Amino acid sequence: MCRIIYNPKYSLYNLGESHPFSPQRTEMLIELLKEWNILTEPIEPNAVLASDLEVIHDRNYINTVEKVSSGINVEDINKFGLGNADNPIFEGMAEGARYQVGGTVLGAKLLMENKANRILQLGGGFHHAHNNFAAGFCIYNDLSLAINEMVNFGWHVVYLDIDVHHGDGVQEMFYSHDYVMTISIHESGEFLFPGKGWVHELGQGSGRALKMNVPLEPFSEGSSYLEFLDKVLKPALSWFKPNALVVQAGADAHFADPLADNLLTTHDYENIFRQIIEFADKSCNGKVLFTLGGGYSSTATPRIWALLYLILNNLDIPEYLPKNWKNHWEQMLGKTIPNTLHDKLPAYEIIPRREEILKINKDVIRRLMDSVSQYWI
Ligand SMILES: [Zn+2]
Repeated sequence: MCRIIYNPKYSLYNLGESHPFSPQRTEMLIELLKEWNILTEPIEPNAVLASDLEVIHDRNYINTVEKVSSGINVEDINKFGLGNADNPIFEGMAEGARYQVGGTVLGAKLLMENKANRILQLGGGFHHAHNNFAAGFCIYNDLSLAINEMVNFGWHVVYLDIDVHHGDGVQEMFYSHDYVMTISIHESGEFLFPGKGWVHELGQGSGRALKMNVPLEPFSEGSSYLEFLDKVLKPALSWFKPNALVVQAGADAHFADPLADNLLTTHDYENIFRQIIEFADKSCNGKVLFTLGGGYSSTATPRIWALLYLILNNLDIPEYLPKNWKNHWEQMLGKTIPNTLHDKLPAYEIIPRREEILKINKDVIRRLMDSVSQYWI
């Protein structure tokens, strides 16, 4: 059984009407699940306290976030990554962020207390938040706090990041840690924020060869992700044998995403989600915590996360979207939403360098596995 975590207070994390990281994406998802009559009652998390964040974040940074969020003026907010276009200051920022952290931490607790095996947290995924500065729409790093709880419990954890951007904040926090393996597949930092996540970032000290990065060429397709699942994720999980898998399930590698270039379809996402769950069943007794993350196509992201919900709950995949839902959100967005849950194929025109891109990605994967396997003994 899959437990769902959500608190309406997550919507406090609203970076502004024209900002791509909109709470509307989750609202669309929840309304879709309600329209289908399949949404099980979510467990509502409490917000973590500001002081709870000190295991992950610098105290000065936390104080700054809390102050500016309640309207108190602080000098030099730029050095904390705040007050810019990506991370504007807004009312309720700290509270909204702490509720979302609370959700991911609650997910970790439910796994540790054996209350559930599969958890879907309908929020969180703030993988770019750093120890002492905000970045890439992220303030507090919910993932790192949740993983840290599991590590303190004595667990080994694999963090898998399929968001199209490198999971730099989480990797950085556990770079030298031998209980945490981080695996990020993303569009190469040569072309996309945050400009990191190279194959040679393998971890330090006892964390060496436990940090894995697959930087993909722009316009990478599902075939490159299948290669990754088979050649990277599967052997990594069967070698590391974690107690749990934490997945940042950003939906911004979809072909319609306006902020990145990769070309996944909903069919690819279905394959990826099914394989991740199958691997978790085999390697860690099915203990898996999914969070949301990026995903900036308002017409694709809710469909991708609905697929994740359906798969985690072993439900059939409906062919069509409910008319009421589609009509309502088409009016709200001023955009056309497809009739079907899945993308219609072919979803996009065939790209010119298709074979070459797959070959480059395969080489990246081979180099990564050559690098780590000498340590995996
Ligand atoms: Zn992203």
